[in-house]
This record gives sequence, C-alpha cells and structure tokens, in this order.
Amino acid sequence: MRELSRRRGYHPHTVAVRCGHRRSAEQEHCEPVFTTSSFVFENAAEAAARFSGDAPGNVYSRFTNPTVRGFENRLAALEGGRFGLATASGMAAVSGLLLALLKAGDHVVASAELFGSTLSVFTKVFARFGVEATFVKLTDLDAWRAAVRPNTRLLFLESPSNPLCEVADVEAVAAIAMDARVPLAVDNAFCTPALQRPLQLGANIVAHTATKYLDGQGRCVGGALVTDNEAIYDELFSMLRTTGPCMSPFNAWVFSKGLETLALRMQQHCANALQLAQWLAQHPAVEAVHYPGLESHPQHALAARLFNGGFGGVVSFAVRGGRDAAWRVIDSTEWLSITANLGDAKTTITHPATTTHARISADERARAGIGENLIRISAGLEYIDDIIVDVQTGLDAV
Ligand SMILES: *Cc1c(COP(=O)(O)O)cnc(C)c1O
Repeated sequence: MRELSRRRGYHPHTVAVRCGHRRSAEQEHCEPVFTTSSFVFENAAEAAARFSGDAPGNVYSRFTNPTVRGFENRLAALEGGRFGLATASGMAAVSGLLLALLKAGDHVVASAELFGSTLSVFTKVFARFGVEATFVKLTDLDAWRAAVRPNTRLLFLESPSNPLCEVADVEAVAAIAMDARVPLAVDNAFCTPALQRPLQLGANIVAHTATKYLDGQGRCVGGALVTDNEAIYDELFSMLRTTGPCMSPFNAWVFSKGLETLALRMQQHCANALQLAQWLAQHPAVEAVHYPGLESHPQHALAARLFNGGFGGVVSFAVRGGRDAAWRVIDSTEWLSITANLGDAKTTITHPATTTHARISADERARAGIGENLIRISAGLEYIDDIIVDVQTGLDAV
C-alpha cells in the first residue's frame, strides 16, 4: 500500500490531498464512491463478530461506509483530531452532539451570536426536553465564567460570529471549560481547519457544516463532528448510528474532493474579503465595516494570533440609511448571488435582518447589533476587481 506513513507528521496541504482514502483491490487513483446500503459477510460467525463490534468492518451504511469514512478521516486529520463523524447536515452535527452529551436537567453555556437554527435547537427543541441554555456575549470571558453552574455539561461557541464577525478567544474559553470540567464544542464553519484548529486551542469537539467552505461550490448539504476524546467519540458514534442522521456516500465523496482544495480556496476567499473590506471602509456610503482583517476590528490582534494566514471570507457592512438603502444596494448589483448561503466559489450577498436573522425579534437583533442597514457578503473566488465593481454598482444606487 503506497500511502502516507503513520510515523511522521505531514503538512496540512499534504494531509488534505492524501489522507483518509484506503485504496481498494482495484487500485483506483481517485477515491471511489461506495453506493451500498449494506455489506455482506463470509459466514454467520463473521456477521456476529461485526455486529458485536468484536471484529472491525462495515455492517450497514447508517453506521459506517468506506467513502464516508474517507471524508471523516481526512477532516479529522486536518483538524488535528483522532476521530471524525459525518452527518447529513451541519444542523444534524449540532443536534447530534447535544443529543449525545446532554440529558434532562443539564445546562449549557453558549455564545449568544449563534447561527439561527442552532439558536432554535437550544431554545425551541432542547428546552422542551429539560435542557437549559444560558447565552453569553462571545467575547465576554467574565460572562462565560459567571454563567457556569454545577449542572453545566457543555460550553458551545461559534467564532467568528455571523454576521458581525466577532472573534472568540477560544483558548481562554477552553480554559474556563477545563476549570469547570466540561467539554467545549466549537462550530468552525467560518474558519475551517485551514484557518483555525479549535482542538489545538484546547476545545474538545469541533462541529462543522460541510455545506459551506468544505464543499466550497454549493453542491451538497452535510456536516461533521471531530474530537480527540475517545469517550466522547463513543457517545457521539452510538447516538448518531442509532438516531440515523448519516451522510450519503456521494456527498461524502464531494466533500472529500472539496477538502483537497480547501486551503487554496480559503487563501483566495480571505484575500478577496480583505480587499473588499478595505475598499468598503473608505466608501462614503458605508457607515461601518465588520471584518477581523481590518485594524479597526476590536479583535483584530486576537484573530491575527489565532487564525492561520487569513481572516475569513465573510464581510459585513452597514450602509448609510435604513432597510430601503440596504435593499437598494443588494438589488442594484448586477450579478452577485442574492442568497443567504456562504462559503461558495460564487460571491453571495444577503440582508441578515430579513433573512438569516429574521426569526429573532427586532429587540434581539438590535441587541446583537444587526441593524436594518446591514449587508453581509461572502467573498467568492471571482476576480476581486470584478467583485468590487459590482458592489460599487450597488452602492452607487444610494
Ligand atoms: C450553515 C451553518 C450551520 C448549519 O449547517 P447546515 O449544513 O445548513 O445544516 C451551522 N453553523 C453555521 C455557523 C453555519 O453557517
């Protein structure tokens, strides 16, 4: 078998291209797609051993599948973790994690600036089953510390936050989790392991949507969990195989191929976002720009320390005026994709207050700093001058 040696460490660029795949007897070069729901055994004794877990090997694709395993192992290697688990979506990863680790009477401390559906999973779903959540400001370490209770079982954060790009000191929150003897889970959707590796910063679990940057071309919906802790992995695996939000082999294949180009794509997303943010910051129709790569950003120094070689691909900005002005800017661009999705090769533009954050109340939005005049752009891979010209076309309309 000609594959990477287990004995030496390889650069993430090499890991992304080479790790995870175990070549079959056909000696294929590209990873194959195993579209099979089940696997067969030589005899009844082998079936029994596989089912009991005494012998390794595949049983049924809700539990394990070679193509899905390939993606799980490649992503885990990139995050610097030992165990990866793929899920049907990013939300299946988040809810699977909570199902596995929490029970009635438990308490979670989470950052307030969460992805909308994640917030709903806490407040509308797990609240019904007796799990209480306290939401704290992502950047307020005293608030994190003060929110921990004797029945706290998990700390959960998302960094940078959406859409304002606030950056958490993951190392400091991990230290608070360690003191409280509870795991810290980090949703790493915006950074990906190309920019930030939470397990290296002391977190215990990384949650991913694969739908965004891991795919990078907007083709499939998927998610994943990565951990270094075998006991946590066993809980997650057991819950996911029982409840069933598994990833399809075809999607796993798309995501595995996506990981091969992740680092290169992230470099370009970051470079384009930085140039766009700098251009927006000097535009007279723009009131404020939120991007960790700008020196004016409150956590610029922290982001420079935690992130590896870039500040992410998402930029938010407030235009002078209110909702009308923001909508006019969006509608006046010629070709930017008007969609709430992000992490795509195509640049996307959205109005958070009426899309991604429409379901929270106006008060909550105001408290979170998400004004009616805020616009979010996920910088794609088009040529940056062309992106800027189209944003300019939008801004010229106000
Ligand atoms: C999109 C997203 C999710 C959910 O992922 P899906 O694949 O859409 O289920 C979770 N967290 C963040 C930060 C996201 O951007």
